[in-house]
Amino acid sequence: MRNDISEVVLSEEEIQNIAERLGRRITEDYEGKTPILVGLLKGSIMFMGDLIKYIDTHLEIDFMDVSSYVGTKSSGEVKILKDLSTSVDGRHVIVVEDIIETGTTLNSIMDLIEYRNAASLEIVTLLDKPINRKLEVDVKYVGTEIPDGFVVGYGLDFDEKYRNLPYIGLLKPELYQ
Ligand code: 5GP
Ligand code: MG
Ligand code: MG
Repeated sequence: MRNDISEVVLSEEEIQNIAERLGRRITEDYEGKTPILVGLLKGSIMFMGDLIKYIDTHLEIDFMDVSSYVGTKSSGEVKILKDLSTSVDGRHVIVVEDIIETGTTLNSIMDLIEYRNAASLEIVTLLDKPINRKLEVDVKYVGTEIPDGFVVGYGLDFDEKYRNLPYIGLLKPELYQ
């Protein structure tokens, strides 16, 4: 697998440092509250696992799996493949994402969770790729910005593969072009 990666974008150590920094901020911001962290499947699984180790408040976790409808960019239109098992009514929600690119997915999720009456709603993402943004998203907690290029590993896939790499790597373009 290592031969398919042209460059390590974030090492295991760098990822841990990011998780610790964001976890400490979330701890301060949510002191005395019990937020629900909502991970978007499947890409966020590893980040969720590391991030919560560094959050020192009571919290709950839940997961959602959504796919954007092809051919539409309007917000609110996502297909829910797996819904939350917890009600977010009156709760403090933090959506946990692996990477934000166009912003389409998160825009729809935010609308949905707001509609369900969350008390507050923020986003934490490991990676932000702002170059391809189409819809504005207000992201409070960002691990790091990355330039254009397709990254895999640490939960992120290409064709369902590479999720098990312990670091984030740049996939060689000849493998997907
Ligand atoms: P968007 O912000 O465009 O709605 O979508 C973000 C989603 O697109 C991510 O959750 C991820 O599934 C996928 N994505 C965007 N950029 C990349 C990338 O560089 N690598 C991988 N593996 N997935 C990506
Ligand atoms: Mg994702
Ligand atoms: Mg994917």
